[in-house]
Amino acid sequence: MSKRIGFAAACAALLLAGCGESGPEFSGVATSGVTDAMIASAPEGEWLTYGRDYGEQRFSPLDQINSENVGELGLAWSADLDTARGQEATPLMHDGVLYITTAWSKVQAYDARTGELKWAYDPEVPRETLAVACCDAVNRGVALYGDKVYVATLDGDLVALNQSDGAVAWRSQVVPDRENYTITGAPRVANGKILIGSGGAEYRARGFLAAYDWQTGEELWRFHTVPGNPADGFENDAMEMAAATWGGNWWELGGGGTVWDSITFDPTTNLVLFGTGNAEPWNPGANDRMGTSEDGEFGDNLYTSSVVAVDADTGEYAWHFQQTPEDRWDYDSNAQITIADLEIGGAMRHVAIHAPKNGYVYVLDAATGEFISGTGWHPINWSLGLDPKTGRPQINPEARYEQTGKLWVSMPGAGGVHSWHPQSYDPNKGVVYLPANNGGFPYKADDDWEASNIGFQTGLDNAATAMPADPAFRQMNLDATTGALVAWDVAAGKEKWRVNYTGPWNGGTLATAGNLVFQGTADERFVAYNANDGKELWSFATQTGVIAAPMTYSIDGEQYVAIVAGWGGVWDIAPGILTAKSGPPRNISRLLVFKLGADGKLPEAPVLAKRVLDPPPVTGSAEQLAAGAVDYGRYCSICHGDAAIAGALNPDLRHSGAINQPASMKAIVIDGAFAHNGMVSFAAALNEEDVENIRHYIIQRANEDKALEGG
Ligand code: CA
Repeated sequence: MSKRIGFAAACAALLLAGCGESGPEFSGVATSGVTDAMIASAPEGEWLTYGRDYGEQRFSPLDQINSENVGELGLAWSADLDTARGQEATPLMHDGVLYITTAWSKVQAYDARTGELKWAYDPEVPRETLAVACCDAVNRGVALYGDKVYVATLDGDLVALNQSDGAVAWRSQVVPDRENYTITGAPRVANGKILIGSGGAEYRARGFLAAYDWQTGEELWRFHTVPGNPADGFENDAMEMAAATWGGNWWELGGGGTVWDSITFDPTTNLVLFGTGNAEPWNPGANDRMGTSEDGEFGDNLYTSSVVAVDADTGEYAWHFQQTPEDRWDYDSNAQITIADLEIGGAMRHVAIHAPKNGYVYVLDAATGEFISGTGWHPINWSLGLDPKTGRPQINPEARYEQTGKLWVSMPGAGGVHSWHPQSYDPNKGVVYLPANNGGFPYKADDDWEASNIGFQTGLDNAATAMPADPAFRQMNLDATTGALVAWDVAAGKEKWRVNYTGPWNGGTLATAGNLVFQGTADERFVAYNANDGKELWSFATQTGVIAAPMTYSIDGEQYVAIVAGWGGVWDIAPGILTAKSGPPRNISRLLVFKLGADGKLPEAPVLAKRVLDPPPVTGSAEQLAAGAVDYGRYCSICHGDAAIAGALNPDLRHSGAINQPASMKAIVIDGAFAHNGMVSFAAALNEEDVENIRHYIIQRANEDKALEGG
């Protein structure tokens, strides 16, 4: 594409915003360094974009390491990371340099052969941002284009760095405000534009995908995923069409539908396909966002929980496919979208393969969004099945918990059978390798719910669904919460093989021409499987749970496999006791790089000290304990864990000295004494009496669990 066409297209998209003479000037495409043609050709030894190639197949043609010799794989080098939180990045490799991001949106560049650190960049994200990040201070990686490296920061900026030395070339604010929006996803590239969205659908966010000029950082277009206030006029026809599917004053909470992970550019169609998150609040009864139904029909809330396609040059709407209309279960459609050409029903089809949180694997026509197939690959109870023509789910009336007023345990749960953890697709076998979470989630509408200026905006009664101190109930939930690696035949729509794991929240996958599938696990291993049958061929003790996806590259004829290890993300923080399903969680964050014949060793891992609960006695009244449970559930549980049982990253308040002293609790929760650690003041929502109630509730929970532990 020429510079002129690019500029004209960008300007056409911005005409209504007053583009013309003074509008942003598109500075064309890169002609040196990492170019569009290079990314499109996906050179064998390199890994130039998050999903390796534009179609995000994560399949490497390298086969030096293969199912015959993978047993000889060893640690070539490793690098300790300075951020002990969840690590979700896929490394990129170009011209002998390995680029990673770590928690807190830091970027590091290493000599890919030796592990020597070439440079490091810290965007200095304010730690207070953690309070508006739903799911840990994670980051999923960089983009490479021209002579630059791009990272999106947790506090909502897109930053361009020089590949040579990490110096900042430009930094642009992407998010409308820093109180409701965060960014954890990896930027992508399309025709000289850098694409990024944001998270925030549990706060007050209006989802969008935005495109930036690679050289100047100017915004070129922005496609919103939900309509704004009709009184302000609609940005385009797509917004007007979507507005008819909403009720109440949905725009007051933003609407959600955030584009927090998948963005796939398809050069074949010049479309950008991306996934959108849940509508907000989760409980649609809390703000009547689906409209009041008398005939059993509810508004779909477009374009939430959907795959959407827009023109890469203009951001103009092309098509959408909504996977979860009436989403009230947090069934984000943000999972990775893989583009592939494969034979289905005797015809070659150009398709998008997508397994979102809701429990189905979808195959869509990548050019039109036409539904080709959708197959459940996990126990599903919220839907009674898909319409075979349209793919629309028949929603189980019992799952409309705000209508029934009852507690509903949905399968899959809010964590999703598959979330952001990257899948890989072997185009020769027609098989996609999917990390799976098996488990449910309890939903109960809070009928007295009102929006707040801080914390999660779900409209759920988290106190009513908190895990009780009942050993049998806890065991039942622990038994029901597992994980798996599933090899899925896409054209046939059926499972080929699976590996079962003790717990959920295992890592993304890598498939190679060496007939291998690599995956890190929650139980602290990095494993290579035979791609034909799932037989385990090799594993390495990572000393920490792995959630990120591995990648592979080759230098001077030698193949390497790299993975960023470090337990965290939402499964470390929110699910309380379930967090420890794969063993006591611990975070020892490292970049690990392997090759054949290497014999590197990690230092001995420190032994996790067993912590004994020693709370003060329960002195709170029944009223205080009940009120404390409600406020804890709404404002504290997302970070400190359901039922006050925390994971590895954030303080477990049952063990905190602060629960001994009302003044200490007040200093932290009201006065913001630990704001520099991310624990901001909650004075916007809680007063001293509320905090005292929360303190009593935590003491009660600590005493209950101490009794269970025989203390
Ligand atoms: Ca969500």
